[in-house]
Amino acid sequence: MQRRHFLQYSLTAAGTIALAGRAFAAPTKPGVLKLCSQESRLPGASLKEKVANLEKWGCAGLELGGDPASRIAEVKEALKGTNIRISALCWGASKGDLVSMDLDKRKAGIAALKQALDTAGELESTGVIFVPCFNKQSELAPAELDKILWDILPALGDHATKAGTRVLLEPLNKGETFYLNRIEQAAAICRKIDNPGICLMGDFYHMAKEETSDAAAFTAGFRWLHHVHLASRVRWLPGQDKLKEPEQPERSFVDGLRALHQLGYQDYCSLECGVAKGTDPWVAIPAAFDFLRAQWAEAIKPA
Ligand code: MG
Repeated sequence: MQRRHFLQYSLTAAGTIALAGRAFAAPTKPGVLKLCSQESRLPGASLKEKVANLEKWGCAGLELGGDPASRIAEVKEALKGTNIRISALCWGASKGDLVSMDLDKRKAGIAALKQALDTAGELESTGVIFVPCFNKQSELAPAELDKILWDILPALGDHATKAGTRVLLEPLNKGETFYLNRIEQAAAICRKIDNPGICLMGDFYHMAKEETSDAAAFTAGFRWLHHVHLASRVRWLPGQDKLKEPEQPERSFVDGLRALHQLGYQDYCSLECGVAKGTDPWVAIPAAFDFLRAQWAEAIKPA
């Protein structure tokens, strides 16, 4: 069976979404577009100013890098009285320590991720983004990495749930990792672990390189999908591809956003990207949010 066909989904008359022979319950409410940005992407002299700008630009969330354990008071103060909430912590791989064959390194990596989960819980974050390993961080074969994750993720999932948050597995393109490249691969791990604290996310930049269809990918992983990263094909702000490659079509988000709407996605879509050289972030970032809102309007337009 061809993969494209295997992953095709459709809204059926019965109000369920059929995928590969399984049926997902239809969403109780339609998906929403909650725009968000990584802190490091934003201009502004202080966290408070960045949060105020996000609010002015009609956003709902802020994504923080690493484990901001030492900044909890600063973050809470910056959010106070605003509509902005913490979406996710972009934590990463800790050099692949969690899947290291050096058990001391693995133990330290697990402890560090647990600490980040505690911080995420304290900040009411959707989750902590975890990449098992980047390229060159592990010599193990994918099947061996699977076994390590099956071993370590149940306890991490329990820790996340107790903290009120989640581990979010992030698939990356092959230029960044040989291991998890597509949402369906992360979904297979989530399905195997079957723990509410072990979920996944999607990144439109990596998806453009690795997925056959944004809609099919989101559908395959939707049961566990709790965060989305936004970037253009060249990893600039959405809508800026033409500034680098004027002859190529602009990366479209419409199919993916339509799926998020139909599936009932309620979490954040966050900028993780560069800004085109020569463009002013104070102008280009709100323009990118406007571009995304226009793509969303196109996506949810009745057929
Ligand atoms: Mg990403």
